[in-house]
Amino acid sequence: MYPFISEEQKMTVASIREFVAKEVIPVAPTLEARNEYPWTLVDRFKEMGLFGCIIPQEYGGLGMGFATYALVVEEVAAGWMSLVGLFNTHLIMAYIVVNHGTLEQKRNLLPAMARGEKRGGLALTEPDTGSDVQAIRTTATRQDGHYALTGSKMFLTNGRNGNTFALLARTDPNATPAHRGLSCFIVEKGPGFVVGSDADKMGYRSIDTCQIFLEEMPVAASTLVGGKEGRGFRQVMDGLEVGRINVAARAVGVARAAHEASVMYAQQRHTFGKPIAEHQSIQIRLADMAVNLEAARLLTHAAATRKDMGEPCGLEAAMAKLFASETSLNGTMEAMRIHGGYGFTKDLPIERLYRDAPLMVIGEGTNEIQRLLIARKVLERHRVSQ
Ligand SMILES: Cc1cc2nc3c(=O)[nH]c(=O)nc-3n(C[C@H](O)[C@H](O)[C@H](O)COP(=O)(O)OP(=O)(O)OC[C@H]3O[C@@H](n4cnc5c(N)ncnc54)[C@H](O)[C@@H]3O)c2cc1C
Repeated sequence: MYPFISEEQKMTVASIREFVAKEVIPVAPTLEARNEYPWTLVDRFKEMGLFGCIIPQEYGGLGMGFATYALVVEEVAAGWMSLVGLFNTHLIMAYIVVNHGTLEQKRNLLPAMARGEKRGGLALTEPDTGSDVQAIRTTATRQDGHYALTGSKMFLTNGRNGNTFALLARTDPNATPAHRGLSCFIVEKGPGFVVGSDADKMGYRSIDTCQIFLEEMPVAASTLVGGKEGRGFRQVMDGLEVGRINVAARAVGVARAAHEASVMYAQQRHTFGKPIAEHQSIQIRLADMAVNLEAARLLTHAAATRKDMGEPCGLEAAMAKLFASETSLNGTMEAMRIHGGYGFTKDLPIERLYRDAPLMVIGEGTNEIQRLLIARKVLERHRVSQ
């Protein structure tokens, strides 16, 4: 347990850790090998209220702070990273509705999202654009009191098994700058929403990641988040702060699992007459993994705590996401080296951790984009007057 968290948070962590140990770790290898969606665990998430982690209690959620949420995500990811996919973009969507939606949107959506009846996602990426969000081509054309959505979205997490999405589309093709022409809609599956093929991924398996097509799909004007056009980019960027805290926490979970397994294995495996933990080169690896893991966790907790205090945390969330995901990527590689040939087999969880880690470098804005964002914020903060 970590020294910087409250007694209440420790209890939450303990109960999620027990759930993961008893109900997730035993089934994860089989489900992931079959690339099978974890429906039973979806039901358990519903029972535990996890679909409503950060949804306010007045709308039926658990009303958790972001720091507690990050701890929950770390626990789940340490058991099986894919499982976080059930509620990551779902909760980014809920956050957008809580903070930018109309009262009617909050009342209609949030209680059902908290119960996990409406399970959501975030539809930004398109076949031709991911990092460059302003270049989104999907259009929302106003017609007789509703909008018609036309275009395609790529890599939509929960695209097949979810039912409600926050979707970014262009309402004004002539707006300058281009992001002022983007608006966010709450889109429920229906006529005109066509689910295409699932991506066949190296990791993050068992969670559906799909292309979808919008064929002049009609959506009511009341689904426009906040009721005004041109605000979608800012709404979504605000939501991605939560997404980056989530990815950072996920990465900490994966790095922790790799480190814990390595510490155990290094004491059990003998070479040249002694446990490999007694070889200095292994000790150096274990030490570097431990330091990076702790630093990643502290950055994540700092970003989440700022968010809980209502302070801007764009810079801190980007730093946490960047550092934690690189820590996870390097840490899983180090774990594989420590485990030798056995780490390369499917008999141990190391190879799954190694396949899951790279997604954290890519999702919620690649690490190249995080660096651009961090540099911009640092330069803004320390502007030299000419
Ligand atoms: C498993 C999975 C699940 C996903 N789930 C979702 C989801 O639910 N919803 C959703 O909307 N998206 C989702 N995505 C998409 C993900 O967010 C994008 O893949 C990511 O944002 C990168 O976009 P891209 O793949 O188009 O890469 P590109 O934008 O084409 O980038 C390619 C490379 O160029 C670099 N690059 C781009 N621009 C710059 C620049 N200005 N300076 C320096 N380098 C640059 C990038 O860092 C990257 O290395 C998911 C992706 C995966 C793999």
